[in-house]
Amino acid sequence: MTDPQLFSDTDSAFRYRSNRELYNARLLFSAIASPWLTKTGIRFVNGCMALHLPIKGLIKGTLFRQFCGGETLEEAINTAKRIHTHQVSAILDYGAEQKDAEADFDKAAHAILEAILRTAGNPSISFVSVKITSLARFALLEKKHYNLPLDTAEQEEWQRVHKRLLNICNAAAGFNLRILIDAEETWIQEPVNELTTDMMMRFNKKEAHIYNTFQLYCHGTLPFLETSLQHAEDNGYMLGAKLVRGAYLEKEKARAWKFGYVNPIQSTKEDTDHDFNAAVEFCLCNIHRMAVFIGTHNEESCLHTIRLMEALNIAPGNPRVYFSQLFGMSDHISFNLAALGYQVAKYLPYGPLAEVTPYLLRRAEENTSVAGQSGRELHNINNEIRRRRMTHEK
Ligand SMILES: Cc1cc2nc3c(=O)[nH]c(=O)nc-3n(C[C@H](O)[C@H](O)[C@H](O)COP(=O)(O)OP(=O)(O)OC[C@H]3O[C@@H](n4cnc5c(N)ncnc54)[C@H](O)[C@@H]3O)c2cc1C
Repeated sequence: MTDPQLFSDTDSAFRYRSNRELYNARLLFSAIASPWLTKTGIRFVNGCMALHLPIKGLIKGTLFRQFCGGETLEEAINTAKRIHTHQVSAILDYGAEQKDAEADFDKAAHAILEAILRTAGNPSISFVSVKITSLARFALLEKKHYNLPLDTAEQEEWQRVHKRLLNICNAAAGFNLRILIDAEETWIQEPVNELTTDMMMRFNKKEAHIYNTFQLYCHGTLPFLETSLQHAEDNGYMLGAKLVRGAYLEKEKARAWKFGYVNPIQSTKEDTDHDFNAAVEFCLCNIHRMAVFIGTHNEESCLHTIRLMEALNIAPGNPRVYFSQLFGMSDHISFNLAALGYQVAKYLPYGPLAEVTPYLLRRAEENTSVAGQSGRELHNINNEIRRRRMTHEK
């Protein structure tokens, strides 16, 4: 039977962190646990960035060190190697924020391709993630979502988006590397699903190389997961499903309210939890014809998954079932699952500091609750510091 205490082993959780790194992490999580300090800090950073003031050192020594793999691909690969000595692999995530220029989309596609080519055959990298908004203009995706007619220039623009993604998926499949396509705002999700399905039909013939993301905080996602598997079956390819709850709760709510349509998000957290767990069950019951990637920091969801795996006789090391948490968060889940032989990968963003700063500020914001994530992180870090003091570990 699964031990509900299995995430409390802080020795396994933080073995890859030195004492100094743990003290830094404690300081950081203590600071961002305060909503006032976080809000002020975010305003300060945004202000300094707008004025081009030199705050690189401050960000690099705090948020960047905790949540990012490095400023370059080389640094990210080294971080990946470091966590892989504890059986946890990495998902390379080139930190490009939404842009509007074709040159930026080409640059992002080039960076992702470079990551694929440089890491081919490296066991510490299991996936590369792709945000379609790093390859395409948001307004173009929105137009496609609402089925609005594209003029000739836009049709050509769309062909370029398709080509960028095709090149990425083609290279990844050639090197047996898997691609995760992130889910973003619901009002651009149709073309993202369309592109991803096209790639899955091309490259998932025998195994899942390409994964679509399913946000279970939306009402319609569970049925969409079921029809996606049916579509895969009817068209002779393997479905890759990345399951997440969803990250744009407030934005979705605000937009639905502003334009007067029904909020696509579930009415309660409990409804989201229910659908997330139901999606896990659906995927595990169909694991002979699909692959699943469970992206969550929720301990209950992870326990639910491993209990189901035990009940369904799915071996912990089955390569079709991956667990994942963000780098710098929930190490107590990642490293304890990996120690038991489960497949675990950390989302590892990397890139120039200015590019990844918005990502870092979102991590700070998300952790601003003593009752929530940062409280749990602090509790685990303090336990490990205490344990090391008692055993005189360095
Ligand atoms: C590896 C990984 C990859 C990810 N990739 C993506 C991605 O591609 N796209 C994306 O959108 N997100 C992504 N996320 C973020 C994810 O969607 C969640 O926002 C985040 O992980 C928190 O959810 P949880 O399951 O970890 O934890 P929990 O704390 O259990 O859940 C919090 C989540 O529950 C939902 N929720 C909270 N309150 C309510 C409410 N009142 N009503 C309905 N639902 C509610 C929200 O989705 C919220 O984020 C990813 C997360 C991870 C770990």
